[in-house]
Amino acid sequence: MSRIRILSEHLSNQIAAGEVVERPASVVKELIENSIDAGASQIDVEIEGSGVRLMRVVDNGCGMIEDDVLLCLERHATSKIQEESQLGAIATLGFRGEALPSIGSVSRMTIISRDQEKDTGTLVEVRYGALHAVHEQGCSRGTVMEVRNLFGNVPARKKFLKSARTETYHIEEVVKNQAIAMPEIGFSLRVDDRTVLDCPSGSDLESRLRSIFRYDGPLLSLEHSGAAVTDSVQVGGYLLLPEATPNRSARLRILVNGRAVQDRMVRNAVTEGLHGFLMKGYQPAGAVLLSISPEMVDVNVHPAKREIRFRDHREVYQLLKAVVKSAIQNHQEHARAQLFTPAQKSTSNDQEGLRENLIMAEPAAEPFQRSLDSTIGSARVQSNHVVVPDKQPPVMEKSTATERPEKVPEHVSSAPSFQHEPKGEKRETEFAGLRLIGQLFSLYLLCEKGDRFIVIDQHAAHERILYGQMKNDYLKKDIPQQGLLFPVTVELGPDHMETMERYYDDLQSLGLEIAHFGETTWVIKSVPAVISVLDPVAMLHDILDMLYESKGSQKQVVAGVIDDLLASMACKAAIKAGNVLNPQEMISLLQQMEESDVFSHCPHGRPVVKTFLQPELEKWFHRHGG
Ligand code: ADP
Ligand code: MG
Repeated sequence: MSRIRILSEHLSNQIAAGEVVERPASVVKELIENSIDAGASQIDVEIEGSGVRLMRVVDNGCGMIEDDVLLCLERHATSKIQEESQLGAIATLGFRGEALPSIGSVSRMTIISRDQEKDTGTLVEVRYGALHAVHEQGCSRGTVMEVRNLFGNVPARKKFLKSARTETYHIEEVVKNQAIAMPEIGFSLRVDDRTVLDCPSGSDLESRLRSIFRYDGPLLSLEHSGAAVTDSVQVGGYLLLPEATPNRSARLRILVNGRAVQDRMVRNAVTEGLHGFLMKGYQPAGAVLLSISPEMVDVNVHPAKREIRFRDHREVYQLLKAVVKSAIQNHQEHARAQLFTPAQKSTSNDQEGLRENLIMAEPAAEPFQRSLDSTIGSARVQSNHVVVPDKQPPVMEKSTATERPEKVPEHVSSAPSFQHEPKGEKRETEFAGLRLIGQLFSLYLLCEKGDRFIVIDQHAAHERILYGQMKNDYLKKDIPQQGLLFPVTVELGPDHMETMERYYDDLQSLGLEIAHFGETTWVIKSVPAVISVLDPVAMLHDILDMLYESKGSQKQVVAGVIDDLLASMACKAAIKAGNVLNPQEMISLLQQMEESDVFSHCPHGRPVVKTFLQPELEKWFHRHGG
């Protein structure tokens, strides 16, 4: 007797349910997908007892006639595809015809549906896979799906469920994902009679995202960035500004042709695109929308349709990364314009002529760059005296003095500032529409512009500037070097010896001039000028460590480590917290920021600038409304 049997329909449904219905959230996902496929413009979800007791999804979609309400319970019954050729280009969310029979086999499921054209509807009840009741039912157009007592007949599966909180969280995630994917559809979610989500229909992606992320800060738009389109792939969506405090719902959501999926490649592309803008340990957040011609993706690779496969994932990766990068650059220009263009002339706050009134403290003996070097490790004492600078105020070589003529103040006083000033005379320092208020905690520059109060982290700002310069110099293969007055010798251990030999040329291109002296001894002759004040031996050891610890081919390692190396050098060379700056130095820093390609984040992704709006401050003091 043959030992092989064909499984009963009921059993095979249960087996399919094992893949499709992992947890209550999977049911909600399948039901919402069906409602979307049915063309609903409003989808209301209710759950009780973390979904196990009840999940109800109500839609106003096309509904079903009685025959279809019965048919949809059959395995492999679908209205969405009919022939094999369609599998290659699926335009609906569902296509497997598995969800309803699977769900019905592990729960008590009721479907009440009324076709848009019909005057009355149909009710069908299935109990753990067995048809229990079918009858006519008065109801509004569309479909009501109710799933009760999930896994009531498979206690083993029920045991695998996590805490009620976790299961509820997953359900919320599903609804949020779908709500972001379909902003034009209205969504609501009630959890145990509490409304946790209510998104009106006819919304656009931006407002949908903001309401779901509860975020009203700046967004990086991926839509309007130059590189957003190719023939087969279009990118849209928004990313939260990386420093935005990520809350629970602010994760990265990936939607491919309206389908919420998990995809490591997409996530990596976004993370890579945000390189230098994302702090360590921070995840990108926002929604990435990819529209890809359906034949370019395979959505049929996961039973719960959670994952997809791109036909050309490299193209998608490169495109996405480029889009994110260009979105950041756009944002940079926007931020630059906001921070640095001259403020609108307002009657109450006429800042014209302030530059003429520039009052400077004792000028540093050397140009800023040098003076910064000398400040490293030893904070200078800030002069409280106002003197006439005997030469042009220090500015970076990069900026030509003729471009921004700084006037030498005519007013001279050797008395402590702020005391001998005639009342009403403005003594501020100004740059590109920013009024410099001063330095706080020997770390932050405080500025004012129009109705904004601006705080700048001097270390992070300077670090970004130096990093940008070094990166440019590096790309031009022209890092300015500084010869050491007394070349230093270093002893290298075997690991470092090997690394040194391997990366010798790369180290030269970083501005390190090193020569082999014999045995394990090397001599450092020159170092990159920006870090000339640092201990060259410690620096070399750091660099060799970084290179040694990186894996991959030489080219990969250098490409991967170079940014880190430059960032680490910039960090070490930049002015520190605790360095007291005089107004000229602060102005010079602002000026260098304005001239940098990127100024808003330090190379490690920390924000450089924080802006408070006047109304925010007024709120602190309960000044609103007079
Ligand atoms: P699939 O979505 O893969 O087709 P399902 O088992 O999820 O398979 O659904 C089976 C069929 O039931 C669908 O193809 C659709 O015709 C019908 N259906 C399910 N839910 C709804 C709904 N909310 N409104 C209208 N029709 C529905
Ligand atoms: Mg379906």
